[in-house]
Amino acid sequence: MRLEGAGFAADNLVLPFQIEALGLRGRAVRLGAEVDAILNRHDYPAPVARMLGEALALTALLAAALKYDGIFTLQIQSDGPISLLVADVTSDGHMRGYAQFDQGRFEAAVKQGAVERSVPRLLGAGHLAFTVDQGSVMERYQGIVELTGATLADCVHTYFRDSEQIETCLKTACDRIDLPSGGPDAPQGWRAGGLMLQRIPDEGGIAQTDMPTEEEAEDGWRRAVILTGSAADAEVLDPTLPAENLLYRLYHEDGVRVFERRELIDRCRCSRERVDSVLRGQPRAELDDMKEPDGRVVVTCQFCNRSYGYDDSDLDALQSAED
Ligand SMILES: [Zn+2]
Repeated sequence: MRLEGAGFAADNLVLPFQIEALGLRGRAVRLGAEVDAILNRHDYPAPVARMLGEALALTALLAAALKYDGIFTLQIQSDGPISLLVADVTSDGHMRGYAQFDQGRFEAAVKQGAVERSVPRLLGAGHLAFTVDQGSVMERYQGIVELTGATLADCVHTYFRDSEQIETCLKTACDRIDLPSGGPDAPQGWRAGGLMLQRIPDEGGIAQTDMPTEEEAEDGWRRAVILTGSAADAEVLDPTLPAENLLYRLYHEDGVRVFERRELIDRCRCSRERVDSVLRGQPRAELDDMKEPDGRVVVTCQFCNRSYGYDDSDLDALQSAED
């Protein structure tokens, strides 16, 4: 186990764990520089950035619970100031995300009251969907739930309770905090993190002798839920507190075992080749209508804000490549 100390702990990772005595499985997510890069690429108001940061942490928590080879996507479509929130993570740990929001409606919501983390005020009514894309040959799993909770974590909790009948405990946080530097002018950075605990029926095969009774299991679950809820946002986000230490701090009485951590990386999947293939399918007249004042067609990736520019000769080359 790592010791707490000055400076940064291992970061941008998902850490699976088990609370052995209670037969509970969980995951912890810590995001630092990678989520900071994703959120800083956009000029979102802080509450919108925070909502996306929490969505990214949730996506990493949920994806880590699945065995898949491809892309796990969390997508929210709603009728509030934020109309679309998308976060995805590949089985290699490559993450990205973006939010679509209306500045005027956002400002109106702020005037009405506190919007921080509020699903009703920032997102309104809508749906949250999960998708796993493993390529054309594999099935796409989709879960969908109405946005009924106060926070994103509440909505996901409702999904597991109602649709999967899996008791789930979730905690997420995202904030822009002072980073440790030792100096008075500490730099600030976005951080996000979360904890997810699930009570998954025992598959058998191990620990048959020390099985807790139903009552003990029920008590243990309640205790673990309370302990998870007791984690302060500041602890979940603390860049100097290793994830292992946070887990030990919370669950040490029941014995917590951690497994191999997996890295999370800020990496978009857009490329010039992908934009080429989209533009190639468009009639030339429509591409000409898309031209900027400088005569170029510019396609900007919504996820990472990277721009791909096409002048007339580029467009001609695309058209001729089609023939
Ligand atoms: Zn991109």
